[in-house]
Amino acid sequence: MAASTEAAFGMANMIDTQALRDGNPRALAKAITLVESKNLAHRGQAQALLEEVLPYSGNSIRIGITGIPGVGKSTFIEAFGLYLLEQGKRVAVLAVDPSSPIAGGSILGDKTRMEMLSRSRDAFIRPSPSEGSLGGVALKTRETMLLCEAAGYDVILVETVGVGQSEYEVASMVDFFMVLMLPNAGDELQGIKKGIMELADALVINKADGESLNYAEQTRRHYQNALHLLRHTSFWTPQVLTCSSLKNENIEAVWGMISGFQIDATKNGSLQDKRARQAREWMNKLLHGMLDLKLKENPEVKALLPELNQKVMEGQTTPYVAAQTLINLLFKAT
Ligand code: GDP
Repeated sequence: MAASTEAAFGMANMIDTQALRDGNPRALAKAITLVESKNLAHRGQAQALLEEVLPYSGNSIRIGITGIPGVGKSTFIEAFGLYLLEQGKRVAVLAVDPSSPIAGGSILGDKTRMEMLSRSRDAFIRPSPSEGSLGGVALKTRETMLLCEAAGYDVILVETVGVGQSEYEVASMVDFFMVLMLPNAGDELQGIKKGIMELADALVINKADGESLNYAEQTRRHYQNALHLLRHTSFWTPQVLTCSSLKNENIEAVWGMISGFQIDATKNGSLQDKRARQAREWMNKLLHGMLDLKLKENPEVKALLPELNQKVMEGQTTPYVAAQTLINLLFKAT
């Protein structure tokens, strides 16, 4: 562990939860560093802290934002975030970075990408942790989100590049999931997977300005029709909007849509249901992750695994019997 992180954890026991709840950004940053720590000893402290703040979390609207590199995520978040600050909201921006080379090296949640927003005292911007452990980076982001809520942020924006599994991860931790798109491009060109379209609560066609204005409107109509064919499992019908993040146009309409969703979903109970379901799925995912880890770390399992692999490949034993043997070893030891 780096010396600076070590120094931060001289204070691990001393995270001032009152300062955190008062919205002190330094207390929040320190708490997040604890949650992100890979040191196993800090894990227990982090969980104790999370349990303590849990009753004070949950009072935000959690918004996921995805889109290919260059679609305008950081420009949008800057414009949207500044608009929210004008409305008296406190805004936190978190990122789930798939840490993939395809992401084109863009660092999500990088403050230089949202310069004006990052200067405000009512905005908190946190890049992705560099590496995930159990549950991946997304676990850290979930936990960080709870800390931000306890610190009084009203709107949490979770940003991700639509690569790999990261959009699914984000969709499973937010209340409202939004896909940013370019004007005048089909799904194929935008690299948008059908599964993602099905998760979207809204598509927002960005760069609806200048010469692209008409194309953006055409694209909007195209998706509006396509979305009608998709999911209608909840009370919410996915919306398609256009905006220009660069020119600051129609940004208030995006917020109008989301706050409308928040009001209705709170009233009819679906927001609470969604969060409860997400928490249960998260627990299940952790449970499987923990079992997997135990299996990988068990010395007897480790010792026997190569031999069993070989036997299975050579047809000397069935995969079922081999798997059962390993499970028996694991539970004998625990
Ligand atoms: P990201 O990779 O998704 O975060 O995209 P950026 O926010 O970095 O934007 C990529 C490029 O698109 C930059 O040159 C932006 O200035 C430009 N851009 C972003 N939003 C808009 C917009 O609404 N209209 C126009 N014309 N350009 C935009």
